Amino acid sequence: MKYGRTYNFSAGPAMMPEPVLEEIAAEMMNYRLSGMCVMEMSHRSGVFQQIRDEAEADLRKLMNIPGNYKVLFIQGGGTVQFAMVPMNLMKNGLGCYVETGAWSKKAIAEAKKYGEVKIIASSADRNFSCIPDCRDMDIPDNADYVYICENETINGTTYFQLPNTKGKILVSDQSSMFLSRPCDVSKYGLIWGGVQKNVGPAGMAIVIIRDDLIRDDLPEYVPTYMNYKTHADNDSLYNTPNCWAIYCCGKVFKYLLENGGLEEMHRRNKEKAEILYDFLDHSEFFTGAVRREDRSLMNVPFVTPSREQDADAAAAAKAAGFDNLKGHKSVGGLRASIYNAMPKEGVEALVRFLRKYEEEHA
Ligand SMILES: *Cc1c(COP(=O)(O)O)cnc(C)c1O
Repeated sequence: MKYGRTYNFSAGPAMMPEPVLEEIAAEMMNYRLSGMCVMEMSHRSGVFQQIRDEAEADLRKLMNIPGNYKVLFIQGGGTVQFAMVPMNLMKNGLGCYVETGAWSKKAIAEAKKYGEVKIIASSADRNFSCIPDCRDMDIPDNADYVYICENETINGTTYFQLPNTKGKILVSDQSSMFLSRPCDVSKYGLIWGGVQKNVGPAGMAIVIIRDDLIRDDLPEYVPTYMNYKTHADNDSLYNTPNCWAIYCCGKVFKYLLENGGLEEMHRRNKEKAEILYDFLDHSEFFTGAVRREDRSLMNVPFVTPSREQDADAAAAAKAAGFDNLKGHKSVGGLRASIYNAMPKEGVEALVRFLRKYEEEHA
């Protein structure tokens, strides 16, 4: 790795593509002869407007977003979306949620503040090691939406088939899989993702929402900022946006377009994940934590035979140049997050390290 950088397996904030960081560094002091850094620029200036517009246009191209969907850049990261979704979409006051782990549980807890929540499927009884069967769920007629966390960052599960929502709109938290594989946007009512997992710096979420779901009859108490319409009506420039995050994300969109788009990212991500899962499947010391059919291509949790050895392996990995392999504090074990920007060489090097560790400690 150049610049003495480390293979960073953090779940987020996470690695960004090196050519993107280099380009940002080159533009830091004087962005394209504007005489200033993007951080210093008015969000009302023509030069920033162009950065914003290109970011949206490039994202639309990457994901092939249909014209009847709005793209919104909203501050507050992922957690704010846990509240904005029910605030804006609960017309009848009923949200249906699939419970698959830590992040869907947070979404459920927040939604309960704004209306009724019905859990229509759950893998809690399997310790969230799989995605529950979502082919025939009991969805009431008056449900406003069906909500999923499409990739559970902490538990390491992902959907390879979308749930049968029986005609209700599908809302998906794609934070930790955003732009990792092709996505048919038309199957969703709303997709959102915090960008610090697979795209850019923390502090912003991207919301892709079908325009008929943007309402002008929200209750008075809904804060102006928390209304999707505020952002949709103002090109995400109602107030000062996270200009820096929009700029960095825009760079990543261009990088992805130049590198084969989402088909190519998916190919690379499958290849990387296979290297790691193949090792885990054959190891007698490390064990993957998730049912084979539901294994995430982005977040790979695994364990050793004991908690002590989990901690020792994570510390040894860090000393060897593989950072942030400690599992989330709520589940323990180890976890390797291998987003778009993690090179294949990083995963291969990690597997070599784990193999050697196993030989020395098993
Ligand atoms: C990280 C994450 C969030 C929360 O994002 P913040 O920006 O920290 O609020 C929500 N959902 C998923 C799936 C995540 O991985």
